[in-house]
Amino acid sequence: MEKLEQRIRQEGLILSDKVLKVDSFLNHQVDTRLALEIGQEFARIFAGRGITKVLTIEASGIQFAMAAGIALDVPFLYAKKKKAVTLTENLFTSEVVSFTRGETYQVSISQSYLTPQDRVLIVDDFLATGAALVGLVDIVKQSGAELRGVGCVIEKSFQEGRGLLEALGVEVHSLARIASMRPGEVTYVREAEA
Ligand code: 5GP
Repeated sequence: MEKLEQRIRQEGLILSDKVLKVDSFLNHQVDTRLALEIGQEFARIFAGRGITKVLTIEASGIQFAMAAGIALDVPFLYAKKKKAVTLTENLFTSEVVSFTRGETYQVSISQSYLTPQDRVLIVDDFLATGAALVGLVDIVKQSGAELRGVGCVIEKSFQEGRGLLEALGVEVHSLARIASMRPGEVTYVREAEA
């Protein structure tokens, strides 16, 4: 997605060779128009797959899952990072090792909201090590729902996430695929090279 790639080049802060900060338009302050366009792009890519629900993980995937849900005219659901007191019913849970925080946490969703009749699109902001998304794939599997694909806003293609998901048989589409990055220089994977 050309517009997204440009914004990353213009506003992204490269904190290390592995960490990109995009707080001015994606992760802290959110460019709402861009978020809606991202949702429309996911809806275009995954059109015709009979998606009934968009699934993400709190907090940074929420605005994109909502945008995709609006564009596909289906609900979105976000996995919670720890058991909340309001989640008293039965849960699907999975363990995730956080890339940014370096800690292990549990993600869970209520069994009421994902059923074997659902066809799921998973959406998230970043694909890095893939740990968060593998956790969500596991939750979809537990529910008996059918996973129709994963959409990521930014993929750091030099990390192992895509390979891990593809090894699980999951179709992954990312709107900006970063091949490498260092201050002042971001290069993208072009589909022909991918
Ligand atoms: P994972 O390593 O599981 O693929 O990434 C998990 C989460 O870490 C992503 O959903 C995202 O919220 C965060 N994350 C991973 N890499 C980056 C990065 O370079 N920048 C930012 N801002 N977040 C990241």
